[in-house]
Amino acid sequence: MCGIVGYTGRENALPILIKGLYSLEYRGYDSAGVAAFTGQGLRVVKARGRIANLEERLRAEGELRCTCGIGHTRWATHGEPSDRNSHPHLGGKGKVAVVHNGIIENYKELRDRLEAHGYVFQSETDTETVAHLVDYLHTGKQEDLAQTVLAAVQRIRGSYALGVVSMSEPEEIVAARRDNPLIIGLGEGENMIASDITAIIDRTRRYIILDDNEVAVVRPDSVTVMNEFGDVVEKPVQTVTWDMSAAEKGGYQHFMLKEIMEQPKAVGDTVKPRIAKDAVLFEENGLTDERLRDIEHIHIVGCGSALHAGMVGKRVIETMCRIRCTAEVASEFRYENPIIGKKDLCIVISQSGETADTLAAMRLAKQAGAFTVAVVNVVSSTIAREADGILYTWAGPEISVATTKAYSAQLAALYLIAVKIARVRGLISLGDERALCAELQRLPQCIEQTLGCQQDMQRIAALYANRPSVFFLGRGLDYAAALEASLKLKEISYIHSEAYAAGELKHGTISLIEQGTLVVALATQPALFEKTVSNIREVVSRGAVVVLITTDDFTGDTSVCQHIVRLPKCLYEFSASLSIIPMQLLAYYVAVERSCDVDKPRNLAKSVTVE
Ligand code: GLU
Repeated sequence: MCGIVGYTGRENALPILIKGLYSLEYRGYDSAGVAAFTGQGLRVVKARGRIANLEERLRAEGELRCTCGIGHTRWATHGEPSDRNSHPHLGGKGKVAVVHNGIIENYKELRDRLEAHGYVFQSETDTETVAHLVDYLHTGKQEDLAQTVLAAVQRIRGSYALGVVSMSEPEEIVAARRDNPLIIGLGEGENMIASDITAIIDRTRRYIILDDNEVAVVRPDSVTVMNEFGDVVEKPVQTVTWDMSAAEKGGYQHFMLKEIMEQPKAVGDTVKPRIAKDAVLFEENGLTDERLRDIEHIHIVGCGSALHAGMVGKRVIETMCRIRCTAEVASEFRYENPIIGKKDLCIVISQSGETADTLAAMRLAKQAGAFTVAVVNVVSSTIAREADGILYTWAGPEISVATTKAYSAQLAALYLIAVKIARVRGLISLGDERALCAELQRLPQCIEQTLGCQQDMQRIAALYANRPSVFFLGRGLDYAAALEASLKLKEISYIHSEAYAAGELKHGTISLIEQGTLVVALATQPALFEKTVSNIREVVSRGAVVVLITTDDFTGDTSVCQHIVRLPKCLYEFSASLSIIPMQLLAYYVAVERSCDVDKPRNLAKSVTVE
């Protein structure tokens, strides 16, 4: 969570930091702050709330001119969002300033010891201990700032990405990381640090990825990276391949709507490079035929929407490949001593590739001898680098906190895996594979067609935007899709909603259905049509108003449903890719109706790098 940005160069750093913070705001937005070297020394300005509040405070406090500084946008873990708890935090008597992403697990013990040495804490954060610790280790010692930070992180337990500046080296930023992302942007006569590429792409396309336990010394004309022993390490320079326009709204009111509309491309870009001569090809990811033939169990692990994608994937893989497949919550998996065999495949799904629980689950599976494959969207992210195999979703940068296009691309990646395994294990013929590949290639077109329901969904949203709670029903694949539909609605509109396996409703939840309750029913699987329709009748009999999402060719009786949304024809196994489209649009328009901050819903952050 949280966004870190730092600049050292020849230009006025402040506008660069503010711009960087705006591009990182989706990572955390409960407060923001900057620290910069000015004529009067190290100055910190910070404010609770959005970056606009910080800008206002900066205006009120007068011009802050500097050529080196650090900035932060916070997602609070220790201490409420407040001015005091915002970063940067000062160490000692204001000689050192620190921004931090992550959690210092032994902060209490460090705090007690530093207080015993006379340090006075201003905030409740774990981060402030780092600022004082650096000051403590730096004061009166010969070591330079980088060596001091190296010594400080050795005393820290937990996770961190850090940006540290000190009065002793006013042109320098020292960066460090463990289990939280940090990159260094390389410019001409200027360099930057940032949590992700969006903050630097405006100034440079060249960057270095800091690895765990490394510390970097960033100055206007040089960048030196050291490992935990203080030895200088050579780092490969990466180049950003996507364009700035991909991270901008391009005329849409919100990133979320833009990203919903980009789904045909996201799915097409994920599928197309992996299909050649009507077959699925996995050259880039170590998923050899031999390995796939021998799999005994597939664990799919993720959090939030990535988990929901995994739940769809589980059903598709089990149907096509007849291998036992489980979709597991990463934060549970990592602590429940899971049974993992050496012939198991562990598919970890994460848009950012930095999700702390998913990363830990992957490391656990790897350690137990399973082959790990990462389905991630951010190139060279930690999960991507540590997995045995990698299947990138080529959705492009996703800015809206509520995922849409990355989720759709994850589904596509899982379908590819299913088809590949089914073929390798002889469950489908060459002809079947060819037909499935054709269907996969047609998917972007089907999604495009489905997006045609936009206006209908806007109209439906306007009718029901004030409902206190909404239920989503479905069976099988539709149940997995319903879970994602429900999450989308609740995360951005704050309406309470539940997703239920349609047959399970009467075992308790149906007691919540009353006159006028909105129920959205998904029915895209012919084998289950009639069953789901019976469940729809049950809720209608108790007063529910029903929106039915079904296929073009469904001919059953829909007379009890108030609204019917028809999806274009596609292979039934891939229908979750279509049914989610009207659901995303429903969530989006309901949130807009309710004047919610669609792209930055309360309490959430895009990249969950704490557990
Ligand atoms: N743990 C720190 C805090 O609560 C950093 C949180 C973040 O990553 O934004 O202030």
